[in-house]
Amino acid sequence: MSTYTDEINSRRTFAIISHPDAGKTTLTEKLLLFGGAIHVAGAVKSNKIKKTATSDWMEIERQRGISVATSVMGFNYRDYKINILDTPGHQDFAEDTFRTLTAVDSVIIVIDSAKGVEVQTRKLMEVCRMRKTPVIVFINKLDREGQDPFDLLDEVEEELQIRVRPLSWPIDMGQRFKGVYNIYEQGLNLFTPDKQRITESVAFDDLSSPELENYMSKAQAEKLRADIELIDGVYQPFDKEEYLAGQLAPVFFGSALNNFGVQELLNCFVEIAPSPRPIAAVERAVDPHEEGFTGFVFKIHANMDPNHRSCIAFVKICSGRFERNVNYKHIRLGKQFRFSSPTAFMAQRKETVDEAFAGDIIGLPDTGNFRIGDTLTSGEELHFRGLPSFSPELFKYIENQDPMKAKQLAKGIDQLMGEGVAQLFTNQFNGRKIIGTVGQLQFEVIQYRLLHEYGAQCRWEPISLYKACWIESDKPEALEAFKKRKSQYIAKDIEGRDVYLADSGYVLSMAQQDFPDIRFHFTSEF
Ligand code: GDP
Repeated sequence: MSTYTDEINSRRTFAIISHPDAGKTTLTEKLLLFGGAIHVAGAVKSNKIKKTATSDWMEIERQRGISVATSVMGFNYRDYKINILDTPGHQDFAEDTFRTLTAVDSVIIVIDSAKGVEVQTRKLMEVCRMRKTPVIVFINKLDREGQDPFDLLDEVEEELQIRVRPLSWPIDMGQRFKGVYNIYEQGLNLFTPDKQRITESVAFDDLSSPELENYMSKAQAEKLRADIELIDGVYQPFDKEEYLAGQLAPVFFGSALNNFGVQELLNCFVEIAPSPRPIAAVERAVDPHEEGFTGFVFKIHANMDPNHRSCIAFVKICSGRFERNVNYKHIRLGKQFRFSSPTAFMAQRKETVDEAFAGDIIGLPDTGNFRIGDTLTSGEELHFRGLPSFSPELFKYIENQDPMKAKQLAKGIDQLMGEGVAQLFTNQFNGRKIIGTVGQLQFEVIQYRLLHEYGAQCRWEPISLYKACWIESDKPEALEAFKKRKSQYIAKDIEGRDVYLADSGYVLSMAQQDFPDIRFHFTSEF
C-alpha cells in the first residue's frame, strides 16, 4: 500500500450514459451545481452533435470544441474527488463512448420514464456488462406522465439484463407528482412543481404512521405504503457487494431538470460507488495503490485547426502518482517521454497540474506519438488491454484521389485510425484498404479531416459487407485452411490481427457451421 491511499480512495471516476435526450446533460449540470463547480444552470453545454446539414462543418467543429471542454469534469463533493467522463450521445460516435467506458470505475444510466429503455442504452449496457462495471440507474422526468414504475423496473431488468433494487420510490407522477420516498435514507422528499426544487425533506422511517397523510392525499399515502411493502417483498435488500460485482443496479427516481432526486443520488453514489479498481494488463493485474505510475490512453482529441496540428491524449491513471516533468516510458515506442504541461479538468476549466493520482484523467499535449490503447509506465514493461473494437456497421473502400498526395493520405489514414476515428482493415487478397464505421457521419469527418489536416483527397467506393469478425483457432492448420478457403475475404486490422469479412449473415452462419474449429468474434477483445 502506498502513501497515496487516501487520495486514491477518495476518487470516484464515472460516466453518465443514456440514450440521447433522456437527460444526461441536465443531470451532469445538476451534479456540478452540488459540487459547487458551477454556479448557474445552463453552464454545461451539451456535446451532442446536432443533426445539421451535413455540409455544416463549422458547426461540427464548434461542437467538437465543446466536447473537448466537457470531456472530463472534475469536482469535489464532501471528501470525495469526483471525475465525470462525458460520452458523446450521437450514435455515430458510439465507439468513442465504448472506449470511454474502459476508463471509468462505475456508471450512472439515465432513463426517460416515458420512453423506458432505448436502443443506445442497451448497447452501452452491453459494454458495462462485459466489463462488470457497477451501474446505478436514474429514472428521470417524473414531473411528466411516464410508465408505471414497477413496469419500468421490469423493463430495466429484462432489457439491460441486470437485477434491480429501488432505493427511492416516486409518489405519483406528472401533474400529481408529490416527490419520492427515499428508501436508502428513510425520508420523504417533497416536490412542489412551481417551486421546481425540493420543498421539504422529512425523516420518515415508519410509513404506517397516519402522519404520512399530512404530506399527501390519503390515496397517495395508501399507494405508497402498498408499493413499499411490495418492494420489500419482491426485491432482496440492497447488497453493496452485488452492486460492486456488476450484478445488481440500485435505482433512483427523480427529475433532473427540477434538480429533484439528484442530491440523494449523489449522496448514495459517493458512498457506494467504487474508488479506482484493479485493472488487468496483459502481464498482470495492476492495483491502483501501487507506487509505480501506470496509465493508458483511451481517447485522443485532435485540434481541427490545420495551423495548429496538435492533439490531446487523454490518459487514465491506473496506479500510483503521475508527476509533471518526470520521465515515463511509452511502451509501444520504447521511448521515454516527459510532459511539461499535463492538464487536469476541473468542471469548465483546464489547468496545468503538477501531480495526479490513480483514478484521475490527465490530458497530455501530443504531436502524434500516441495512439488509442498506448500504455505509459514508470518503467515496467506492461500493456493494458481492454480497448475493445466492435465490428463496424458500415464499410467502404478508401481510394486515393490525388496521385501526388499518396504519402499524405497514408499518413492521414494511419493517424486518424490511431486516434480511433474509425477502423481500418487491409484486404490480404488485393491489398485494398477498407474503412469500417458505425455511422455515415464518420466517413464525412474522415474525408474532411484528410483534406484539411493532411492535404490528401480520398474517394469512397462501395463494398457490400455484413460484418467483420476477428478469427482465431487453437489449431493453426484449421486457421490456415479457413484463410485459404476464404482468401478473398481475409483482412488484417490495424494491430495485424486476422479478420474475416463476411458479406452476408447467411455466408457467416455457413462459415460458422463448416468450420467448427474457428472462433468468430464480433469484438476485438476476447
Ligand atoms: P441528453 O441528450 O441525455 O444530454 O439530454 P438533455 O439533458 O439535453 O435533456 C433533453 C431534454 O429533456 C431537454 O430539453 C431537457 O430540458 C429535458 N429534461 C431533462 N430532464 C428533465 C426532467 O426531469 N423533466 C422534464 N420535463 N424534462 C427534462
